[in-house]
Amino acid sequence: MGMRKVYIAYTGGTVGMQPTERGSAPAPGQLGALLASLPQFQAAEMPEITLKEYDPLLDSANMTPADWVTIGEDLKARQEDHDGFMVLHGTDTMAYTASALSFLMEGLEKPVILTGSQIPLCETRSDALENLTTGLLLIERYAHRMSEVSICFGGRLLRGNRASKTDSEGFDAFESPNHPLLGTIGIDFELNWRMLRQPKTSGLPLRVRKLGDASVGACRLYPGMPARTLGAFLDGVSGCVLECYGAGNAPNRDADFMKVLRDACDSGTVIVAVPQPLRGSAALSLYATGRTLLEAGVVSGFDMTAEAALTKLSYLFACTSDPAEVRHMMQQNLRGELTPLTTEND
Ligand code: ASP
Repeated sequence: MGMRKVYIAYTGGTVGMQPTERGSAPAPGQLGALLASLPQFQAAEMPEITLKEYDPLLDSANMTPADWVTIGEDLKARQEDHDGFMVLHGTDTMAYTASALSFLMEGLEKPVILTGSQIPLCETRSDALENLTTGLLLIERYAHRMSEVSICFGGRLLRGNRASKTDSEGFDAFESPNHPLLGTIGIDFELNWRMLRQPKTSGLPLRVRKLGDASVGACRLYPGMPARTLGAFLDGVSGCVLECYGAGNAPNRDADFMKVLRDACDSGTVIVAVPQPLRGSAALSLYATGRTLLEAGVVSGFDMTAEAALTKLSYLFACTSDPAEVRHMMQQNLRGELTPLTTEND
């Protein structure tokens, strides 16, 4: 065995599933047995692993914000005895969990690598072996130089809060369109040390922020969306990620629509604009249709993914109940999740 100790939180996902009459579903006990029997995981260069199988194992479509906190607290409880963490997770909501953990785990000084697979480990052509062994070797070799939440998948290492699932069929299921890769894994491991967040050894204890009761949501604009539909949605939330057209545009010729947005902002709802296109930033001052949003009180989410913006809103409402503070912090770069445009800052 190698030098490092890695704690694996196995939360579910395709990686440990098996076929059932009702489609693929998690199979308790199976993944642990496979890890114990496959020679790749016993190799001398591999770290020593402790696997914790969650109960129930979840298809990640069933993950909720409470699960993000459970995972964060589980990792925190194991930090003394481990050099790094792996979270085995379904791919469907992996980018949400990775983003959420990056915010919730305050003062993180060790690597947290999320991975999973498109084909279960028990099948012949599985991508799981590659994803798991690569993630574990990354921790074995570089735990002392990595201190962020990342996703290791399909030969890529991506910042967790910059990643989105962009392919439900290919083995390289994730991209980080607005941020360089943290690493490319081929024959060699090519790590982007300029980008990787390294431990600060601040001495501050790791803290996991519990999410409060504030409800946040995401709403994707579409042509012809009635003002009352938007109004009904905004009525129930303290914060909303508004997925806008292009570089952050909305229908400013619809006076009712803009009034709904303005009234919501005036009454303390935090509305954050992110672009619908995968690549690019919300530049609200570029077009008149974006400027009207700024005037209504909407703030720019810059180039954040919708996943990062939503989980960051949840996190910030757990830190403060002051909407002005949440608005301000949404535009700050907390964990490498955004690149600010100076023209848009409040
Ligand atoms: N539905 C599965 C999940 O997200 C898909 C996967 O794991 O790839 O849990």
